Amino acid sequence: MTLARAHGWFALEERDDGVVRITEPHADKLVRANLWWLRGTDRDLVVDAGLGVASLRRHIPHMFERDPLVVLTHAHLDHVGGAHEFTERAAHKAAEETLAQGVPASLNGPELYRQLGVEPAGENLPDLLIDALPHTGYDPRAYRVQPLTVHRSLQDGDVIDLGGLSLTVLHLPGHTPGCIALFEERTGALFTGDVIYDGHLIDDLPESDPSDYRRSLARLADLDLSIAHPGHGRSISGHRLRERAHTYLSAPFA
Ligand SMILES: [Zn+2]
Repeated sequence: MTLARAHGWFALEERDDGVVRITEPHADKLVRANLWWLRGTDRDLVVDAGLGVASLRRHIPHMFERDPLVVLTHAHLDHVGGAHEFTERAAHKAAEETLAQGVPASLNGPELYRQLGVEPAGENLPDLLIDALPHTGYDPRAYRVQPLTVHRSLQDGDVIDLGGLSLTVLHLPGHTPGCIALFEERTGALFTGDVIYDGHLIDDLPESDPSDYRRSLARLADLDLSIAHPGHGRSISGHRLRERAHTYLSAPFA
């Protein structure tokens, strides 16, 4: 199958609150994650970095004008692939080792699951996880995620001040040991990565821990937040987030 070249790889959408959501529409839903670009008066911050299939600097050069800090919510390919393009990277200390080794990565569905150590359990995995090429001559088989050094090691309670915007780090392990969310207290906005979104939550990866996940979601359910900007899909209200958390917490615990 020959894929056509995409017209622009990233889709940008500016919200009323000034937060910019960036997506990769040509990535399969399995690996189609959100990047969130926030602008403080002193500095910009980008939550997560996408797959790294296409260059963020080439496609969105204006995002790099103020040398943004990239904060990685966890060490999965669809969140960190483009992180090598930033001059400063931050992540939870529990994610650093995996990031330094180079996270498991493939654009071939079955191969990706093999690398992640996941059983496809009846799922029909696409051979190719992109439906267009970022540029002519791109070879999806050559796709890798580069080993990443972390410049700013984060822990629960750390505060990242951007000027006019200040984000508190919440360590919320479960999906992976190094999962974090960022909470902006003034607006009540929470950037959740893969801890929670409107869809099936993944707690069965080899590095997942369902009991940690329950504790993390119980903590989120108690948080006074207005909106959640997740790693996948659309933003959800605080009410919807609490509903999702309670659904998970009320399911029988194996
Ligand atoms: Zn993930």
